[in-house]
Amino acid sequence: MEPLHLHHPLPNPIPTHVSKNSIFIPSPLSIVSNTRPPLYLNNNINNNNIVSHKTLTLRRAGWFLGLTDNNNKKKMNLPEIVKVGDPVLHEAAEEVDPNEIKSERVQKVIDDMVSVMRKAPGVGLAAPQIGVPLRIIVLEDTKEYISYAPKEEIKAQDRRPFDLLVILNPKLEKKSKRTALFFEGCLSVDGFRAVVERNLDVEVTGLDRNGEPIKITASGWQARILQHECDHLDGTVYVDRMLPRTFRTVENLLLPLAQGCPKLGPR
Ligand SMILES: [Zn+2]
Repeated sequence: MEPLHLHHPLPNPIPTHVSKNSIFIPSPLSIVSNTRPPLYLNNNINNNNIVSHKTLTLRRAGWFLGLTDNNNKKKMNLPEIVKVGDPVLHEAAEEVDPNEIKSERVQKVIDDMVSVMRKAPGVGLAAPQIGVPLRIIVLEDTKEYISYAPKEEIKAQDRRPFDLLVILNPKLEKKSKRTALFFEGCLSVDGFRAVVERNLDVEVTGLDRNGEPIKITASGWQARILQHECDHLDGTVYVDRMLPRTFRTVENLLLPLAQGCPKLGPR
């Protein structure tokens, strides 16, 4: 699931501001805030163009890579995010054999998922999104991601930071009848958003990456992320649950809802 900086849709393409001695390339997360240092390229730049595409790409990659760990080599070989249309996203995934959890293969899938999610950046990812039809989800929301959203939106969505969670074979149970309507995005449905009604209180049980049982009780935005990611394991994408008339491009995110659409927020 994407971080959903709802009131600040990304311009497309991301603008590159050229000043006298530097180029500032906003990263997806730095467009709305100055809390991250800008990326400067500062060698002999003239105002016409400047730095080869390759250099820019490398620099930008380095920017993302630096956010999570120093193992740049490993990161360069990360799997691509699978986009809608690929059957792996529309079919149920298989349970992970508990005896396989500590295998190199499953541990690598988990490591890749965490790296891909952070690089995107996103707040959740399911294994089918990197083409692996196994029931594994990862999720994480950070103070930094949240700092890019407007305060009133954070409050309305009941969005709070939580540490990285890795859950294998998750079972989701709804714990109340309370629901809320908000826009949602997905890394596999690039560039679009739609309103989805989700339960506000859930409990998820499953296994952690060591094969130990875990139980997560979540509400608000974390509950939404859990539902979104668990849905992926059943071959359900948010567009299967959206209110169809709210579907829109990220650029049109702030346009009013069509007449007859229910209001956003808790029901
Ligand atoms: Zn998704």
